[in-house]
Amino acid sequence: MRRRDLVLTAAAAFRTAKAQGGKTIPSVLGALSPEQLGVTLPHEHIAVSSREITATQRDSLRCLWDMLGSQLKQNGVRSLVDLTPADSGRDVALLKQVAESTALNILCATGYYVAASRPANFLTGGPAAAEAYMTREFVEGIGDSGVRAALMKIAVGGQPGNPSDNILLEAAGRTQKQTGAPISCHATTPEHRRHLVEMLEKHGANMSRVAVGHADTNATLAESVDVLRRAGYVVYTIWGITNPKLIGFRGEVAADHSARLLCGLLEKGMIKQIMFSIDFSPTCLRGEGIDFHLYEIPQRSANYAFTFVLPLLRKLGVSEEEIHQMMVVNPRRHLFGEG
Ligand SMILES: [Zn+2]
Repeated sequence: MRRRDLVLTAAAAFRTAKAQGGKTIPSVLGALSPEQLGVTLPHEHIAVSSREITATQRDSLRCLWDMLGSQLKQNGVRSLVDLTPADSGRDVALLKQVAESTALNILCATGYYVAASRPANFLTGGPAAAEAYMTREFVEGIGDSGVRAALMKIAVGGQPGNPSDNILLEAAGRTQKQTGAPISCHATTPEHRRHLVEMLEKHGANMSRVAVGHADTNATLAESVDVLRRAGYVVYTIWGITNPKLIGFRGEVAADHSARLLCGLLEKGMIKQIMFSIDFSPTCLRGEGIDFHLYEIPQRSANYAFTFVLPLLRKLGVSEEEIHQMMVVNPRRHLFGEG
């Protein structure tokens, strides 16, 4: 299919879904309605890998997710957004297996991780090639898996405004404009977040569908407020981590850093723009091993949202209604659009 045809088809597909009043979003096992989403962790990873995942690693990951999936379900989780792009080891067959055995909804992403991970031809292909690739994964699906991407993962890093990131941000803005698909970002400094928001705006993205992830890293309350004046959502992810070196945090970071920021946003009445997740990232090593990437906190799996984050928020006076808004309503609005 030619790029222009593809883009027209994408826009038409999204419009048709809307017109039928049956707004849906693809999960790896088929379309979901807004009601099916439920409690959602909006930034997680079933597995991350820089090479093909081996059969043994696959078995270990299935075992891990069987245990973790039942904990998450006991705590009311219904959906996980897997933000692993293809360049970071996205494995749709594995995602399907985990979704089947856990009965959790898993939504997967198209897009790109930071410059060093992107394919060798990314720079020469320019924004048009990246746009065509992402659009294809929204419209036709991922390879021959029959699975369509639910959102874009857009990661920036290195020097803010480097050529590779600028290509990606232009492609993301254009793809969002054409398809209406939501965007979820990785940006770990105020400089990266400012540049990202400016570029997405410049290239026509609907900013109400943009979630800025890791927005608690190197952040102050004032900076988060600035981000939310221009983008739809922040996603806080560094809960409980206190070793600044592990997350590129400049200076000290307190265990309650993210909770304090979140409460600051709540005091400013910005509850409709806050989401949080753990960013659990089991990482396949060379050979057969898997590194759970726990940031020196033994229990820091995706379930840490329930063993650490919620108890802390409740202690700081956050209500059940506010928790529902952040874990159910906001992910639904981000993924499905307003209304
Ligand atoms: Zn992540």
